[in-house]
Amino acid sequence: MIRQFELVERVKAYDPGADEDALNRAYVFAMKVHGSQTRLSGDPYFSHPLEVAGILTDYKVDMASIITALLHDTVEDTETSLEEISKSFGKDVARLVDGVTKLTRIEFQSDQAKQAENFRKFVLAMSEDIRVLLVKLADRLHNMRTLHYIKRPEKRRRIAVETMDIYAPLAERIGMQGMKNELEDLAFGELNPEARKSILKRLDFLREKGGDLIPRIIAELEKTLSDNGIKAVIEGREKTPYSVWDKMQDKDIGFEQLSDIMAFRVIVDTTEDCYRALGIAHGAYPVVPGRFKDYLSTPKPNGYRSLHTGVFGPERQRIELQIRTAEMHDVAEHGVAAHWHYKDGEGGKQIAGAAPQYRWLRELLDIMEHAAEPEEFLEHTKLEMFKDQVFCFTPRGDLITLPKGATPVDFAYAVHSEVGDHCVGAKINGRMMPLRSELRNGDQVEIITSAAQTPSPTWASFVITGKAQARIRRFIRTQESEEYTKLGTAILERAFEDEGYKFTNKAIRNVLKVFRQTRVRDIFAKVGAGVLTGREVVEAVFPGIRRKKDDGKVVPLAPVRDKQAKDRSGGGKGKGISIKGLIPGMALHFAGCCHPLPGDRVVGIVTTGKGVTIHTIDCDTLEDFVDASERWLDVSWNLDKEASDIYVGRLRLTILNVPGSLGDLSTVIAKNDGNISNLKVADRTPQFFELLIDIEVRDLKHLTDIIAALRADPAINSVERARG
Ligand code: MN
Repeated sequence: MIRQFELVERVKAYDPGADEDALNRAYVFAMKVHGSQTRLSGDPYFSHPLEVAGILTDYKVDMASIITALLHDTVEDTETSLEEISKSFGKDVARLVDGVTKLTRIEFQSDQAKQAENFRKFVLAMSEDIRVLLVKLADRLHNMRTLHYIKRPEKRRRIAVETMDIYAPLAERIGMQGMKNELEDLAFGELNPEARKSILKRLDFLREKGGDLIPRIIAELEKTLSDNGIKAVIEGREKTPYSVWDKMQDKDIGFEQLSDIMAFRVIVDTTEDCYRALGIAHGAYPVVPGRFKDYLSTPKPNGYRSLHTGVFGPERQRIELQIRTAEMHDVAEHGVAAHWHYKDGEGGKQIAGAAPQYRWLRELLDIMEHAAEPEEFLEHTKLEMFKDQVFCFTPRGDLITLPKGATPVDFAYAVHSEVGDHCVGAKINGRMMPLRSELRNGDQVEIITSAAQTPSPTWASFVITGKAQARIRRFIRTQESEEYTKLGTAILERAFEDEGYKFTNKAIRNVLKVFRQTRVRDIFAKVGAGVLTGREVVEAVFPGIRRKKDDGKVVPLAPVRDKQAKDRSGGGKGKGISIKGLIPGMALHFAGCCHPLPGDRVVGIVTTGKGVTIHTIDCDTLEDFVDASERWLDVSWNLDKEASDIYVGRLRLTILNVPGSLGDLSTVIAKNDGNISNLKVADRTPQFFELLIDIEVRDLKHLTDIIAALRADPAINSVERARG
């Protein structure tokens, strides 16, 4: 059992300025509150936190982590409150103890749904600070070392399974190789004691046969290298029974065939020396085929760097060599603890980046997602079931779990339906990003809302969560029927007026039966949706006027255009049906062929079941409708100076095929407050590009201004609005 003064010595060995007094106070505090509690081993309880702190000194962690280790069970197992800890040891330690306590309370049950929820909580607790996980892993390691004191086999088994499935992979993922090996081997001993025993027996046999093989191999390797001018420190070790077992399972081979049970670390000065040492080893000994791996040029996802090879080395033994520098070795052994050097009180906040406190978590989750060798990690662990999820955070640090591929709109709906309904933009890690961006693990997402915003039909095309989809669809359904009703009412008013009649609800009520409808508004909606025409309704109300007009059916296009041309106001208070206030994508659509803008002279074409599509009056597509006068609708913008709607205008440009011309183009558009929403190269010659560009603008004048600015740019050869 480690003693308190030893702990202090160990900390001072790597941190000479460590606050000895604080360490002693934490020790006394733990001893006092745990009092006469004992471990199942019969040891006083406070020996456990002391051992946990001792394990952490191997990783050279900061003072706050050591003190947290000493106090880690006080809140869970005694009357101690977080306030007391905060008062005596500071907020930082209190926060860490709280995190460890939360992790301790999470059990990974077999119930799948519960497990997912628990893992969510687990990630949340870890996300506070990686030191929470470091302390928890050390705690688990000590509990595994003393697992055999637990009497109930089911309980031992549960803890061992959890260690194998959750803690060992986590230790590996943050690069703590030694921790991972020991956790796995201890769990293995509980879960498969027979297999472990037989492997140990075999290892003993080989050791006896070979004598003090490891020191002899080290000595010869060192000589071989130094003869060739390489200074190296070599460590040799037997693999753990579990890693031998794992390799046997993996390669489906018997123990007899598995001869490289020894691994040697060759620590050299520089990366250059790594490759030279490899060359020397390959020159001096026969190479085992297929064992060479270069993790220098391609590090493992957890940051591990090393050269691996297998040779028939000194004494004709098959051995594994791991060649690396001292720094790489430090990272390989201590993982994340080698990277993060905490200063008291600052926590993980010093790490650079947009959402620094979550960066390590993002890395961890990224690694889980993109594990290069899934069979090594994901396959047999419970963590696998979480790889289809992304974990994101609100600005307050609340965790929102979403399926992979989710967007800020999904995030907004997950936070609250109201937030979803009114979202207008999103900041991801502090940067404004489009609402359709795909969220990544660890993203911090701030949703910007506006009371004036409503769900947009376009959202339905990219959201992936059921909640967002359901809300948007429901909104569209109700809104659509309102829009159709609004439009239908306007169409009917106009149709009655054209015949010299006054439009009344009463007149419509009288013909409900004719159209087999029960409510007046249903007639309006049907007209708005284009299922009924205004004229059909007028004829039903006044059967006498049937077929008086438009008998010929053919309406020459020219007169319609002339009529529109006469109505110079176009964008102003035209006499057409106002399309102001109708939401594009529902009862109203803007034609993709001519991209009408406020200010353009326009005409509506009613499409059955879809409402009305707006075209510019000179659009070629209108030729297709000359035989269907009943579908033409006289519309006007009825412009509102306050309106802030965004429309899409399409330009066709020819620009010089020289470097920088595309940059010029987007600069001019951006300077004029336009936003490129789509860009397509229509044609390309050695001299020119022909481009089609969709630009988001406020109205016709805005687009005209942009066109004028583009024409003034020497790199731009020609600009015109794209038609048809
Ligand atoms: Mn504990």
